[in-house]
Amino acid sequence: MNTGNKRPRRLTILGSTGSIGQNTLDVIEQLGGREEFEIAAVTGNDNIELLARQAQACGARLAVTASENQYEALKSALAGTGIAAAAGKEALLEAASMDADWVMAAIVGTAGLAPTLAAAERGADIALANKECLVSAGELFVRAVKEGGGRLIPVDSEHSAIFQALEDDQFHALERIILTASGGPFRTWNRDQMANVTAAVARAHPNWSMGLKISIGSASMFNKALEMIEAKHLFNVRPEQIEVIIHPQSVIHSMVGYTDGSVLAQLGCPDMRTAIGYALNYPTRPMLNVERLDFAKLARLDFEAPDEVRFPALRLARTALERGGLQGAIMNAAEEVAFQAFVESRVGFLDMAAIAEAVMDLMADAGSATTMSEVFAADAEARRRAGEIVLQKEKAA
Ligand code: NAD
Ligand code: MG
Repeated sequence: MNTGNKRPRRLTILGSTGSIGQNTLDVIEQLGGREEFEIAAVTGNDNIELLARQAQACGARLAVTASENQYEALKSALAGTGIAAAAGKEALLEAASMDADWVMAAIVGTAGLAPTLAAAERGADIALANKECLVSAGELFVRAVKEGGGRLIPVDSEHSAIFQALEDDQFHALERIILTASGGPFRTWNRDQMANVTAAVARAHPNWSMGLKISIGSASMFNKALEMIEAKHLFNVRPEQIEVIIHPQSVIHSMVGYTDGSVLAQLGCPDMRTAIGYALNYPTRPMLNVERLDFAKLARLDFEAPDEVRFPALRLARTALERGGLQGAIMNAAEEVAFQAFVESRVGFLDMAAIAEAVMDLMADAGSATTMSEVFAADAEARRRAGEIVLQKEKAA
């Protein structure tokens, strides 16, 4: 309960209209809503109707759409509400830089990097769903959060699980982290079967309901590739300490192995609100209205070794981890372009990893970044090269 002599916690949700964003607003509502929290800003992109509705429901001071040309639509949707409307990349940075104690970073892709950095530099605690920040900017991003003075709290279910199972004073005894992966809809498929799938088929995840990019990334296991790199930066582990295991039920969200042979796991129903609530309430656990695990109903948990031949994204992550430096940024940027081309039916499902790998090889000597502008430059260069390969593939088809 907010007693009145302490100001309510102030929150901002970057990417409020997405899957994580909507779940975040649900958690905020469950934990007291306007009684407990003030919302500085909510941001979205194309879904103006939802953004305006969210801003009104949570009483945000500012609503921002990333699309410049949606400004008038947002402004008129919020007319008379007292909620400020703004549009464009600069406005997004301003929203991220508002005075907030906690910022949910839930924009998808590297589009989220600059605003999340702005929030980190401003000193907010960062609840990080937007894993691409760590994949692209790695140490620079971690340092920005540290220098800003806020905490970096993972929201990705695997990393939240590890964060929960990893006790600070046990770090010296940490041996390995084990990321679980559902295996996605093509877990048992061969490459010939995968070659001709459409985005509509690839996005149908067996366990989790998520945004388009991460759903396709679960099918190709590119999402797990991003998570391996995310884990390296979050937990400061060596690449060989990061394992992946296929666990089709998605009940064990990930595990930590210690030097005494113990393995600690975090389990739950596949519902992102548990990880979001943990990030919002950390270090204490909130009371959440989410489904409880019923072990008798579950009856069994299965595991399989991952297959890096059918799912080359996992191998690419290993390469990126070995090469280090800008390889994560390059891998991610090239794959974002390839993903967009796949969604537009311009390239096939298997081309996504092939394009990322080709660009990584072309830019294998990119080295490391010491500034964010070097990260953005490598990102742009990887996008340009990936775009060229997409065109070549289209011509050849
Ligand atoms: P989503 O596609 O449902 O939502 C993305 C949000 O970003 C929306 O609010 C959208 O308006 C906004 N956005 C899109 N393009 C933008 C741009 N160019 N500029 C500014 N804003 C833009 O995505 P999601 O599934 O909620 O995922 C968000 C992030 O969280 C991703 O990085 C994803 O990998 C990560 N994540 C998601 C889940 C999940 O369950 N959905 C789980 C773990 C991690
Ligand atoms: Mg995840």
